[in-house]
Amino acid sequence: MATRRGRPTPKSQVKSRKLLRNRQDTAGSESYMSAEHEPKHPDSLDQRLIGEINCDIATLGEVRPETLLRFAFKRVGFNTDVDPSTQNTPRRFIKYLMEYLNRFDPMAVLGDGFKGPEDHGIHGIVAQCNIPFRMICEHHLLPAFGLAHVGYIPRHKVVGLSKLARLVEGFGTQQPSMQELIGEKIADALHKGLDSNGSIVLIEAEHTCMSCRGVTAPGVITSTQVIRGVFRDVPAAREEFAQLVASAKGKGSNR
Ligand SMILES: [Zn+2]
Repeated sequence: MATRRGRPTPKSQVKSRKLLRNRQDTAGSESYMSAEHEPKHPDSLDQRLIGEINCDIATLGEVRPETLLRFAFKRVGFNTDVDPSTQNTPRRFIKYLMEYLNRFDPMAVLGDGFKGPEDHGIHGIVAQCNIPFRMICEHHLLPAFGLAHVGYIPRHKVVGLSKLARLVEGFGTQQPSMQELIGEKIADALHKGLDSNGSIVLIEAEHTCMSCRGVTAPGVITSTQVIRGVFRDVPAAREEFAQLVASAKGKGSNR
């Protein structure tokens, strides 16, 4: 007996499959959830992937996403059908993922803004600090959370203060991504989108893919800073922003 990949199947697995075939499968009702796909509890992921898919791949597009996920969980050893409390876990996971697949148009959020410095004499930094930040990483689909600090120097127009927090939330939940990239998008929206003199975005977040798995280093804060325009060219502008962030953090700790 050999798998589709041509690897010989260990005797222990053959025996295990026979036993599983004789078991009443009360779990999945889908035809492709045969005993062949019951987890064998092997040691490595590669071993868990050995086996044939007893279904027509072309029909998978018609299967509900949570059903596919339930099958995948079961395949690697987590049978969500056994315990009533986990029966909806695949569906919950899909809903969780969809919370981070939001349509987001930054220009619709920024809108036309208000008249800028030529009319009002605003030439300094407009900054908002300690904005709640959340995202899920594109590598593990695990959440990261922390604070974002955003600043820009207006030229032609300014935007409502709530818009900065909306940018952070919008780009953070637009799709699974990288913290570095989200910072770039926010900075570009404030620089190119507003045609400002410059923008700066500092994000500080804890990534649970580092704290709860892999290296298991809880409490590590990843900081990323993106600079555009004046903030890139003039160190004093970056220093002023850093002072604003430090001041806001100090005030936050006294609350
Ligand atoms: Zn990750």
